[in-house]
Amino acid sequence: MSLLVVGSVAFDSVKTPFGEAADVLGGSATYFSTAASYFTDVNMVAVVGEDFPQKHIDFLKGKKINLDGLQTVPGKTFRWRGEYGYQLNEAKTLETQLNVFERFNPKIADSYKNSEFVFLANIDPELQLEVLRQVKNPLVIGCDTMNFWIKGKKNALLKTLKEVDILIINDGEARELAGEVNLLKAAKCVLSYGPKALIIKRGEYGSLFFNNSNIFAAPAYPLETVFDPTGAGDSFAGGFMGYLSNTRNFSEPAIRQAIIFGSVMASYNVEAFSLDRLKSLDYKDIEGRYREFKRLTHFEDL
Ligand code: AMP
Repeated sequence: MSLLVVGSVAFDSVKTPFGEAADVLGGSATYFSTAASYFTDVNMVAVVGEDFPQKHIDFLKGKKINLDGLQTVPGKTFRWRGEYGYQLNEAKTLETQLNVFERFNPKIADSYKNSEFVFLANIDPELQLEVLRQVKNPLVIGCDTMNFWIKGKKNALLKTLKEVDILIINDGEARELAGEVNLLKAAKCVLSYGPKALIIKRGEYGSLFFNNSNIFAAPAYPLETVFDPTGAGDSFAGGFMGYLSNTRNFSEPAIRQAIIFGSVMASYNVEAFSLDRLKSLDYKDIEGRYREFKRLTHFEDL
């Protein structure tokens, strides 16, 4: 069991109604890998600049994330600056500096080529396709994207989606990708682009899973302290794909469980800025919150 992820490794500057953090560790691949590392072996593909500190590399290594595919090249690391209002579900992007990602040419290390699970985290869809061309017959390909790429590289994104088994995006992105306000109609439209299944994340309202025959609804964990939603989507995807990679069971009940593990990881992530909460979990915390989810959603016929 191993899970390859390509995505961004970043310096994030984030402002929420509860505080702010400047130039902290972030990026879609970083959040994804850290969340997934609690379930499975992770092979990361990404690029950083010479300004990326050793302490962050040491942190990722400490999580046993394989960094054979993390390139360090001359130039600056990707930077993202965003802000959230009291409506915490969607970030307002204030600045995106692609920096070293502008000339990134992902090379899949030999040790990665047989990864059975692949996740194309939020990154340029042309790079996502480039990675898919280099891996050998993975069992499951997951994918994420965002409005930046839906607006800027729609055709490349549609090509990537043809190859994808499961797309994991938020409600705004699903509506924008489909050009349809109604979420059920948007889901049908997105499935017609190629993915066999779709998960729509709805922040504090939970998530919806769709395939051609079923819908499953999961709540978000009710939390009193939400400091920073950045990375919630990536942590969800990391928990979801990590669990599937660990169990190698693709039945509908296993997929539902994976969605709850994804929700657990997202709920921990939003409790602090950057990866401050996610990095200090142990598996007992994860199982404990999983059981709370079970109680939260359980009901019986009378
Ligand atoms: P999310 O899980 O959607 O909150 O993802 C947040 C992460 O996405 C942040 O840590 C950012 O560094 C990263 N990010 C923001 N914009 C982009 C982009 N255009 N491409 C790749 N990663 C991005």
